[in-house]
Amino acid sequence: MEYKIGLIRGDGIGPEIIEEAKKVLDTTADKYGHVFHYSDMLLGGVSIDATGLPLTDETIAEAKTCDAVLMGSIGGDAATSPWYRLEPSKRPEAGLLKIRSALGLFANLRPAYLYNELRKACPLRDEIIGDGFDMVIVRELTGGLYFGKRYTEEVDGKLTAVDTLTYNEDEIRRIARRAFEIAGKRRKKVTSVDKANVLDSSRLWRKITAEVAADYPEIELENMLVDNCAMQLVRDPAQFDVILTENMFGDILSDEASMVTGSIGMLSSASLNETSFGLYEPSHGSAPDIAGQGKANPIATILSAAMMLRYSLDLDQEADAIEGAVQKALTDGYRTPDIYTEGTKLVSTSEMGNCICGNL
Ligand code: NAD
Repeated sequence: MEYKIGLIRGDGIGPEIIEEAKKVLDTTADKYGHVFHYSDMLLGGVSIDATGLPLTDETIAEAKTCDAVLMGSIGGDAATSPWYRLEPSKRPEAGLLKIRSALGLFANLRPAYLYNELRKACPLRDEIIGDGFDMVIVRELTGGLYFGKRYTEEVDGKLTAVDTLTYNEDEIRRIARRAFEIAGKRRKKVTSVDKANVLDSSRLWRKITAEVAADYPEIELENMLVDNCAMQLVRDPAQFDVILTENMFGDILSDEASMVTGSIGMLSSASLNETSFGLYEPSHGSAPDIAGQGKANPIATILSAAMMLRYSLDLDQEADAIEGAVQKALTDGYRTPDIYTEGTKLVSTSEMGNCICGNL
């Protein structure tokens, strides 16, 4: 099969990690008889330098012609980069928010998986880690508090700030369906996280999620309050398979879950719209402190490419092969500096990419 993949190399370590993911994609294509056509697009700081804007209409239009887009990471060092002397709407990160809404990317997926080889990086005690954990956080990305009306006004002589949290039933239903479908491909459990003891939006969330669950009788639905979930993630992370939650809770919980794995260079993510289209990117930033030094861990981006094959191109076998190749590189002891421990083999960004290609 032939597919068109958009590549956003971005800033900092972005170009280096995308190069390795592209190598892995090409090796996979050769092995399984596919052709990937790539289209390079600008976003973030490089786009500001080239066009004056963090995201142009051309990039949005080109992204829409692709089956999926793979992105490195964008942004620079806020203290030193001239990009951060621009007004907020013209800075690199504004481009990211804009492309998510322009492409209707309402579902954010962030897996948190503990590789046995990296368990020393996990900040939890050994008896809590047990046999490890493997969860996906499915976060609603285009509604809720971050997109509601907000303003600051003077009330009775005091400055008063207001943010509003709104969800309608359609927004809840479509993200819930995504979570149940993903759980169907995994261990068949959805934990829906809300604050239904306080918030109306959470009570609606719970009602609609229960309705959706009725269409998926093979999948277990559990409801959990967000404060309890924050605690359970560090008390017993293995209990979770798919966590379904709204925008702000998901923002916080997905960072907590990734910290629990202990290695930011390993964590992939996907943002999907109503069709099979998605934008795939590592969970980490552009790491300007190590850019251009061959020290960046490309695995989060390579695993994001595997997610792209699974969720946008429906190539499950190929995605499994990439994940297996990453696992073998770790089992064989290869480590970039961020995950290096004594007794393992230190490799550069491109050596890690070559090693994963060799395992395919
Ligand atoms: P960061 O994730 O870039 O870096 C945090 C720390 O982790 C740094 O020490 C970095 O060297 C290390 N690190 C990150 N990724 C790594 C990798 N693949 N391999 C090895 N080490 C890695 O976070 P930050 O420093 O807070 O942000 C830097 C820039 O990235 C900022 O401009 C920020 O706005 C941007 N950012 C972009 C995205 C995105 O593109 N989606 C996400 C988060 C941050």
